[in-house]
Amino acid sequence: MGVDITPFKTCTLDCVYCQLGRTTNKTIKRESYVASNDVLDELRDVLSRGKRIDYITFSGSGEPTLNSNIGEIIEGIKSITDVHVAVITNGTLLYERAVRDAICHADLIIPSLDAVSQEVFERVNRPHVSLRVNRMIEGLKCLSHEFTGEIWLEMMFVKGYNDGPSEVSRIKTIVSKINHQRIQLNTVVRPPAERLATALSPEELDGIKTMLGGKCNIIEEFRKKEQEIYDTDTRTAILNLTRRRSVTVSDISNSLGIHRNEVIKYLRDLREKKIVRIVMHCGQDYYKLADEPHKEEL
Ligand code: SF4
Repeated sequence: MGVDITPFKTCTLDCVYCQLGRTTNKTIKRESYVASNDVLDELRDVLSRGKRIDYITFSGSGEPTLNSNIGEIIEGIKSITDVHVAVITNGTLLYERAVRDAICHADLIIPSLDAVSQEVFERVNRPHVSLRVNRMIEGLKCLSHEFTGEIWLEMMFVKGYNDGPSEVSRIKTIVSKINHQRIQLNTVVRPPAERLATALSPEELDGIKTMLGGKCNIIEEFRKKEQEIYDTDTRTAILNLTRRRSVTVSDISNSLGIHRNEVIKYLRDLREKKIVRIVMHCGQDYYKLADEPHKEEL
């Protein structure tokens, strides 16, 4: 179950491949964006329905460690449930002791590491002007020695940006100094923020996997098992998905646990009303919220 505690596109980075579009609030300032009690009340409500939840995962519309309450929220979750907690982070703020302390009670941390040289970092991740990749790497190393849970490094490869052999070889050297249990390799499978950000072929990704060796897995396109729907209103649930990122009919069907024919009916209606639009990527239709949907329809 995803928990989103940062406003839409509030992030320390503006990755060329971001499936949420361009970053509208690029910042490194941590703020109390959502009150801990509000998040915990909502979680209590969901948990009280007795549905099976594998992980409570911090991710969503921006960088979750930018929320200065994340530590308090994780501790609160631990006091109300045994469900494991995961934090998906871009890792840029891990050089701050306070950030590492805040997420140390999670069970699993999935930090990104797309580049290790400043030039490539700037090209692929377009960081906040004050961020240096060396500091980020130092933060990751510290975290990996302090944290007692699992760390899975996530790497997104973009053709012509960070997939060159010299950068991959440098990544391999750095990774050998970070304690981790897994490396997840990914490429641009969803419509990115920038059209020029394109995917590697399966063979190219396999080549990187071989170069990196060790604990690498290539992430298959996200396919959720049947998952319970928490929104009572299917239309609102679909809108919420298209608001966060571009999604296929199968994504919606798998995420909400409803038949794809049912999804198609809702999407047809939403398209006719110009609330969602189709974006083509790699020959596949993705649905996303229209740039200026009619407010009264939402
Ligand atoms: S991919 Fe993640 S880290 Fe990169 S801009 Fe989007 S939200 Fe931020």
